[in-house]
Amino acid sequence: MKLHILGSGSIDTHRLSASYLIDDTMLLDCPNGIIKHMKGCGVDIKGIDTVYISHFHADHYFDLPFLLMDRGLFAPCEKTLTMIGQPELKDKLTALMRLAYPDVADRVIDNCNINFVTIKDGDTITHKDYTMRFYSVDHHVIPSIGLRISSGAHTAAFSFDTTYCDNLHPLIQDADIAVVEMASLDTSPVHMGEDSIKKLMHAHPDTRIITTHTGDASFARAKTFVETAEDNMIVEL
Ligand SMILES: [Zn+2]
Ligand SMILES: [Zn+2]
Repeated sequence: MKLHILGSGSIDTHRLSASYLIDDTMLLDCPNGIIKHMKGCGVDIKGIDTVYISHFHADHYFDLPFLLMDRGLFAPCEKTLTMIGQPELKDKLTALMRLAYPDVADRVIDNCNINFVTIKDGDTITHKDYTMRFYSVDHHVIPSIGLRISSGAHTAAFSFDTTYCDNLHPLIQDADIAVVEMASLDTSPVHMGEDSIKKLMHAHPDTRIITTHTGDASFARAKTFVETAEDNMIVEL
C-alpha cells in the first residue's frame, strides 16, 4: 500500500489542508486546493476511482466540485467514481456543485458516473482489494468517521478530525501506521493536542503514529515528541 500524504495542515496553515491518497487511486478527503496540488504533483486526477469524505467541514470536502469538473465537464467518464461517506454525502455534493457551477452542475454529476456508498459507525466494507472499517470519532457537534483500511498484510488507520475518544483505540490497534490529527497544542472538545497523542503513543507502541492537521504553532512542538506528517510525504507499507 502506498500512502501519499498530500496535505498535513488545516484551515489556517501555510501547509495544505489534510488529505491522503492511497495507491494513487483512492482519495481520503478532498479539501480546499487539493486538486490543483495533485495536478502539480503529476497525479492523474482521472485515475482516482474512489473518494472517502470523513465529515462535512469545508477543509475536508470543498474541492469536490473541481474533482467532478475535471472528470465530467466535457464528456461522460466511462469509469465509475465510488464516493464513500455518511448518508448526507450525495445531497451535500449536489448542493455544493449547484452553488459552484449552477449552469452545468447536474450534467457534470451525471457525467461522473458516481456510485455512492453510505457508511456508518461499525461498518466494514470490501472495496476492490481493500477492507475498510469505519469508526465514529468525536468531533464535537459534527459527525466524523475514522477509517481503518487494510490491503494484504498491511493496515493504515486515519482518525480524521476528532478529540480524544475511546473509538480511537480499536481504530488504531495493531495498524502498521496511524495518521492522527493534532490540530493544536491543547486537547479541546473538537481536536486533539499533545496529551492525547502521548496517550495514543503509550497505548499503541508498535504502531507508527504520525500527526496531521496540525496548526503552524503546534507543528514545531509536535516534532519534539512524535513523527509529523509533511505535505507530499510518501510512505510505502
Ligand atoms: Zn473538522
Ligand atoms: Zn479539519
